[in-house]
Amino acid sequence: MRLPIRAVTPETESAEIVGWVHEVRDLGGLSFFLIRDRTGIIQVTIPKKKVPAEILDVARSVSRESVVRVQGTVKAIEKAPGGREIVPEELEIISIAESPLPLDVAEKVPAEMDTRLDSRFLDARKPRVRAIFFIRSAVTCAATAFLASRGCVNIATPKIVAAATEGGTELFPIAYFEKEAFMNQSPQLYKQMMMAAGFEGVFELGPIFRAEEHNTVRHLNEATSLDVEVSFADHNDVMELLEDLIVYVYDYVAMNCAEHLAELGVDLTVPAKPFPRIPYAEAIEIANRTVEEKIAFGDDLSPAAERAIGDAIGGHYFVVDWPTDIRPYYAMPYPDRPEFCKAFDLMHPRMELSSGAQRVHDHDLLVERIRAKGLSPESFEFYLKTFRYGMPPHAGWGLGIERLVMTMLDLGNIREAVLFPRDRHRLTP
Ligand code: ATP
Ligand code: MG
Repeated sequence: MRLPIRAVTPETESAEIVGWVHEVRDLGGLSFFLIRDRTGIIQVTIPKKKVPAEILDVARSVSRESVVRVQGTVKAIEKAPGGREIVPEELEIISIAESPLPLDVAEKVPAEMDTRLDSRFLDARKPRVRAIFFIRSAVTCAATAFLASRGCVNIATPKIVAAATEGGTELFPIAYFEKEAFMNQSPQLYKQMMMAAGFEGVFELGPIFRAEEHNTVRHLNEATSLDVEVSFADHNDVMELLEDLIVYVYDYVAMNCAEHLAELGVDLTVPAKPFPRIPYAEAIEIANRTVEEKIAFGDDLSPAAERAIGDAIGGHYFVVDWPTDIRPYYAMPYPDRPEFCKAFDLMHPRMELSSGAQRVHDHDLLVERIRAKGLSPESFEFYLKTFRYGMPPHAGWGLGIERLVMTMLDLGNIREAVLFPRDRHRLTP
């Protein structure tokens, strides 16, 4: 019976395994192979004088990273990985790997990020890289299960759209038959429209497209966003939902991904609730104590400012009460001080993770806000229409999955958290 490599223990008498040849070593009278599958690594030992000639022939012709099947006797041996080895009775090459390899999976030779991404399928065979994506899978599964448990409905909205969410320039135009269309930069307008549909709570896990020219370690041109919108809720309600989600997901990963975390050398600390709420005005004051380029009231927080505040706070925190001018038109101004709005950012000490707000649900105020941003209400008619037939008050946020994974696992580059990154210079693989 074929066993996952992890399931082969010193007590297993005989086993059949399949996997990739991780390493080959020839020591005269003995040949060693390390065979790897997604559960672990096992040593295959071939005492040349004791095994049949056919096995020796196959062993001689096998190359690193080939897929092989081994059937043999298991022996306890202290020095081998997992304290056991297999002495083969059968050895079969299922799929031979060409040599030389474009990338060293055993990581004896370190590779540049570009080389790694060019052969991502090989890169992802590395236990360390695999661990990141197994954890990312746990993160998205836990986050979506959490939102479903809170009564949110999983929706899918179009990624090909006619109008920009925020009228920005950060859009990829595409040819849509005889019309021009765009790749959607956010499901914002659509998730709000579902509040008008009476769904009350929705979430979407999907791609967002940003035609940002800059090339940084925390921006992608195609990212994954977890978007949420909830009716009869304000900014405080959805901040609580977001902080509950972050804690739930950290907890879930800490409980369920111990091996992958160990592979990455990450000792995960679950953040404590509640995260501090820091008004924007106070946040720039904290930043201005240390940053060289001072932040003026009404400026967005620079990356240096984000780091300075992060250092001062030392954990996750929210920046709240933003100047209305620097937030999108759909953020709800405070009725008693309309120069500030009910918007927030969730910050990890290293960077922004999420932006959200209570939204404007009054049609006329929304038209006014769109105009104030220099945009034309006509191009938002499909959206504005939903505010004229009974729109409940609502609030929501968008959370970047790659940034969540990147900060959770302390990865240096956002490209580590996405299988096939799209950036300024990369469109393949
Ligand atoms: P930043 O100011 O850090 O560039 P943003 O404020 O432009 O981010 P939002 O439009 O608020 O981003 O998007 C919500 C969330 O989606 C962000 O907090 C981030 O986690 C994620 N996100 C947005 N743009 C990108 C991107 N280009 N690459 C990766 N993640 C992104
Ligand atoms: Mg933002």
